[in-house]
Amino acid sequence: MSLMPPVTLKEDDNKSQGVERSSECLMTSQETAKEETPMDNLLLASQTILESAQKQGRSKCPRCHSSRMFYCYTCYVPVETVPTRDIPVVKLPLKIDIIKHPNETDGKSTAVHAKLLAPEDVMIYTYPCIPDYEEMRHEIALIFPGPNSILVNDIPLSLQSKCEKNVSSDKDGDSAMAPALKSARLESGEDGSVSEQQVHSGSKNTPLKKIIFIDSTWNQTNKIVTDERLQGLLQIELKSRKTCFWRHQKGKPDTYLSTIEAIYYFLVDYHKEFLKEKYKGQYDNLLFFFSFMYKLIRNARGSAGKE
Ligand SMILES: [Zn+2]
Repeated sequence: MSLMPPVTLKEDDNKSQGVERSSECLMTSQETAKEETPMDNLLLASQTILESAQKQGRSKCPRCHSSRMFYCYTCYVPVETVPTRDIPVVKLPLKIDIIKHPNETDGKSTAVHAKLLAPEDVMIYTYPCIPDYEEMRHEIALIFPGPNSILVNDIPLSLQSKCEKNVSSDKDGDSAMAPALKSARLESGEDGSVSEQQVHSGSKNTPLKKIIFIDSTWNQTNKIVTDERLQGLLQIELKSRKTCFWRHQKGKPDTYLSTIEAIYYFLVDYHKEFLKEKYKGQYDNLLFFFSFMYKLIRNARGSAGKE
């Protein structure tokens, strides 16, 4: 039996990520700025349009006429110098809701990247105006680390146990998820034939329809996460990865990802570990704007360092 408390699984998983993590981005010195980062090996649409828009400087938002660079962060549309037809469209395997804290500065948030690049699948809400998830709570998961959060590869088991029974509050002080997972494994499915293998392998008929991300600074997040409308949802924690975000919050660990990085890494893991399909860069274009801006800033910092 490989059943272990989720916490142990996470620790083991983090350790196995050591090699991968060591090659990830660092921008702390001039030398490391030249290192390859995850932003260098993406399968992206041509960014020529962004290069020319950048040379032209700020442009107008076609809707509100504000002066913006690349896109309008209040209207979620590209500016006049960046025609929509030149922006890639990414199709996602599930819907994404982003809940934005009202105090989060729009211009600094990367949540809008997701809406621009996957307009059909992404919705942005400003807290406290969020949808009522009550009716579909078994089809939704919230990306947020917590005592009961699980990793992407544990989604099938957790969903099954959530469908079969509500996770009862536990009296032993251990994670409430562990006994629920155990019962999911021991109980048989509708046709009485669910094996351990089937429970573990990803299913394309996943009941998981929507993932919720919270877009706010770490300190503001608590108010949203404790909202009663978000209680009882399956909670997913991402594998540890270092951020490439140039506005990375001071004093926070570099594993605190920007919203678009979190969405991207979740989808890559979901594709590989839940859908069990080979990842061929299907969601890389979600980083179309992010990688371009990242490289601009890295190059600017690099040349500033030479002088
Ligand atoms: Zn606008």
